[in-house]
Amino acid sequence: MPLRSTTTHPRSNKPNSAPIISPPSQNPIHLTSFKSPIPLKILIIGAGIAGLSASIGLSLTGHSVTIYESVSSIKEVGAGIQIAPNASRILERFGVLEEVVRDGISLERNSLRRWEDDGEIGWVGLMPGVGKKYNAPLLVIHRADLQRILLSRAQSLGVKIYTSSPITTISSDFSPSIKLSNGEWIHADLIIAADGIKSFIRSEIAKKNGVKDGTVSTGDAAYRVVINEERMRGDPKFRELVKGKTGVRWMGPGGHIMAYPLRSHKLYNMVLIHPIRPHQVDNESWTSPGTKAEMLKTYSGWNSTVKQLLSYVPDDGEVMEWTLNSHAPLKSWHEGRFVLIGDACHPMLPYVAQGAANAIEDAGVLTIALSLIQSTEKIEDALKVYEVIRKERGEAIQASARDTQRILHLKDGREQEERDRRVWESTVAARGGEKKGNPDLWADLRWQEFMWGVDVMREVVERWGELTSSSSSSNSSVSGSHIRVQAT
Ligand SMILES: Cc1cc2nc3c(=O)[nH]c(=O)nc-3n(C[C@H](O)[C@H](O)[C@H](O)COP(=O)(O)OP(=O)(O)OC[C@H]3O[C@@H](n4cnc5c(N)ncnc54)[C@H](O)[C@@H]3O)c2cc1C
Repeated sequence: MPLRSTTTHPRSNKPNSAPIISPPSQNPIHLTSFKSPIPLKILIIGAGIAGLSASIGLSLTGHSVTIYESVSSIKEVGAGIQIAPNASRILERFGVLEEVVRDGISLERNSLRRWEDDGEIGWVGLMPGVGKKYNAPLLVIHRADLQRILLSRAQSLGVKIYTSSPITTISSDFSPSIKLSNGEWIHADLIIAADGIKSFIRSEIAKKNGVKDGTVSTGDAAYRVVINEERMRGDPKFRELVKGKTGVRWMGPGGHIMAYPLRSHKLYNMVLIHPIRPHQVDNESWTSPGTKAEMLKTYSGWNSTVKQLLSYVPDDGEVMEWTLNSHAPLKSWHEGRFVLIGDACHPMLPYVAQGAANAIEDAGVLTIALSLIQSTEKIEDALKVYEVIRKERGEAIQASARDTQRILHLKDGREQEERDRRVWESTVAARGGEKKGNPDLWADLRWQEFMWGVDVMREVVERWGELTSSSSSSNSSVSGSHIRVQAT
């Protein structure tokens, strides 16, 4: 019998597939009770959000962890990232939530607005309601702050981290060995590939499985800017945006903008998604520079609030631009003693803000699964359980991001008017405690329950017996996704 996930989307066509939602009184995972009886030697490739999170969970459960990172130093890069309750409940168990909350901002609402005149189409309530509902907070934080907090926790737990250590060669039979750039081979019990969106280990696993590891352009690119509040002193409209706790999502033809305050309300973070320009280089890099002039041209027809905000970006300021691609699902997320986590296996488009959160879920699931095995021969069983719990769910969330792209970017016309009507109806219904579908899946209460309410670590514990019983563990194949997402 193939292993199958039960944490399915509420709109799934399969009966009896209710997701496991964590009610407030039940958050019973304490990692002190999950010490591994067989401390493993684990190597992690990549010190991003996924790699660092995994190193913390695995150290807390008694394993010896070493990370190899290609960059020479872990510097201040990136901009805002959302941590939703599905990730914050894991960060709490990893002992870093307090610091993350201190350095992040708990948004109270997200306002959905029109591109042309800044008119409000609808809104969704966030904190404190979301925190109470899911027993875990939702916040936004600078990626660099999150990475710093994770790094410091990992180091305090004794994780060894080597920078300037790109890994480019692995054992051809996927036994747990990697080659360092000085030619030395390092051996371990397990290798975790947390090497991000351009993962070379994903390509190796895809090749082994006879799958082409290709990308498909979404047709979109994104600018990322962070504006310092000092540049807008004396502008009351901007002050309201940067000092308040409201995120704003402007929807327009072919693009949308997501914006919110960061770093104690001293910065304003904007991600601006737009159609890719002809001849634009498609390099999927987080650090490619864009230009302010091109950005202003792209948004010249948008409302005066957006244009005013963009005028505050310094002329020589940091405008980053990256192209957005879809990645075909892999047949498997593990091969031999190698396992993929984070963007290496489920790179997310930013439309439902779940990239970092899903990477943290991977870390949480591996932590529990590897703590429950009784011998090194059972490592593959833990990897199978990890894949059952995470792959179908991660790919469903990836798909929901793709679907949301179309809905957010409708041209003005009948379909857009219908979308806006439904966003408004859903806003009104939510005020009366009713769940009415919101075509923007990030704001849809039922999809939020699937994304934010599922406790993947608890699911490993509750389903461990079922998933590792001899009948299921004898079959290594994992079912294909049966989760259907419909953004209509
Ligand atoms: C520089 C940077 C800036 C980002 N900025 C944002 C942002 O502003 N907003 C946002 O939502 N998301 C951002 N992201 C992406 C976000 O961090 C991820 O989508 C998500 O958190 C999942 O994290 P990850 O650890 O899987 O991947 P990543 O965060 O991409 O981390 C992967 C890590 O692996 C390292 N690595 C890659 N290949 C090798 C190799 N062969 N050997 C050793 N190390 C290797 C990389 O240097 C990197 O540190 C950024 C990512 C990066 C790398």
